[in-house]
Amino acid sequence: MKDAIHPDYHPVMVHCACGHTFKTRSTMKGESLRVEICSNCHPFFTGKQKLLDTAGRVERFQKKYATAKAANDKLNEARAAKKK
Ligand SMILES: [Zn+2]
Repeated sequence: MKDAIHPDYHPVMVHCACGHTFKTRSTMKGESLRVEICSNCHPFFTGKQKLLDTAGRVERFQKKYATAKAANDKLNEARAAKKK
């Protein structure tokens, strides 16, 4: 290896938000790395569905869709009644 051209490749400790830690090597500055998701807790590896719905957006959409569907059903009923 040539001198003074290679980045400092040193061991680092990775800390995940789930509490899992593991060692790896990196050229980053510092000795520990914080991550939000790792292979220990990512749904792809755990096989569990994890919905990250912080603002209740899915719920809000479902509520909105339910009211829209009810209104639509009423309209269709009225139309069907008119036809007869
Ligand atoms: Zn994790």
